[in-house]
Amino acid sequence: MSERQSILIVDDDATGLRVLRQAFVDQYRVLFATTGGDALLIAQRELPDLIILDIVMPDIDGHSVLRQLKANEQTTDIPVIFLTGRTREADEKIGLELGAVDYWTKPVKIDIARIRAHNHLELKRHRDLLARLALTDSLCDIPNRRSFDLSLDREWRRGLRFVRPLSMVLIDVDKFKSFNDQYGHPAGDGCLRRVAGIIEDCLERPGDLVARYGGEEFACILPETERDGASQIAEQLRQAVLEARIPHARSLADGFVSISCGVATMIPSHGLRPEVLVDVADKALYMAKRDGRNRVVTAP
Ligand code: GH3
Ligand code: MG
Ligand code: MG
Repeated sequence: MSERQSILIVDDDATGLRVLRQAFVDQYRVLFATTGGDALLIAQRELPDLIILDIVMPDIDGHSVLRQLKANEQTTDIPVIFLTGRTREADEKIGLELGAVDYWTKPVKIDIARIRAHNHLELKRHRDLLARLALTDSLCDIPNRRSFDLSLDREWRRGLRFVRPLSMVLIDVDKFKSFNDQYGHPAGDGCLRRVAGIIEDCLERPGDLVARYGGEEFACILPETERDGASQIAEQLRQAVLEARIPHARSLADGFVSISCGVATMIPSHGLRPEVLVDVADKALYMAKRDGRNRVVTAP
């Protein structure tokens, strides 16, 4: 959170750029573009927190740049301020209707611009924080169920498009009710946090995700992962939790906290819903419990 916010300034006039740079460089990371094309490239690569955008430019004009930013899922929420020599009310109306958060006319009053930019950046910071909180489990500080549902949907569609396998590992802490009974609820919370951290540390690929699925259950989404690979990862998770040697007097696994895992793999297909994958993994998890816990069962 303490990281500096970034501003992308887009203007084909070098003098204008320099003046604005001076206004912001002390407080923010300042990026530049002198054409609309560069602005789009930099916006997508750097995802700045605010864009100050000239309208009249030699290649792509500011209006088109804004439309393209809005059309892209990654850049659609970046606030954009138009900066222009066009002072007519009708132009300002068009700019704001396109989705700009503000409309500045040249010559810019630097002190006012600084305050306005600061206000927009504060709003952006709060919006980002809310978005992050809405997708994070507050106890374990990993993605929550909502985040899991969104990711599963996205990965399912990706698997559908590229005809690639998608794997899921459902994880349930064994005999966790007894853990709470023995050590108290706060210690139970601490145990869940540790298990979440262990699972997170085991997942190495950038596309892998672990979420808190509910209570003492976690779920991993493993894109591009075949059944054998997913089984191996689940087995690693099981061992890693055991090797953490978290005392659990009433455990069935030598006095330490253990987990059971259900693994499922599918190549997504039309006519099936992603929930099917969860369902199959859940049945495998049920068998792991039934067969004695502290084990991995992979659905055939
Ligand atoms: P099994 O081996 O069959 O999974 O047994 P279990 O005791 O783990 O399963 P059960 O579903 O009976 O109990 C789950 C327990 O997890 C009960 C509930 O109080 C506890 N639990 C769920 N969420 C939390 C939480 O956020 N914190 C703590 N401390 N406990 C939780
Ligand atoms: Mg459970
Ligand atoms: Mg359990």
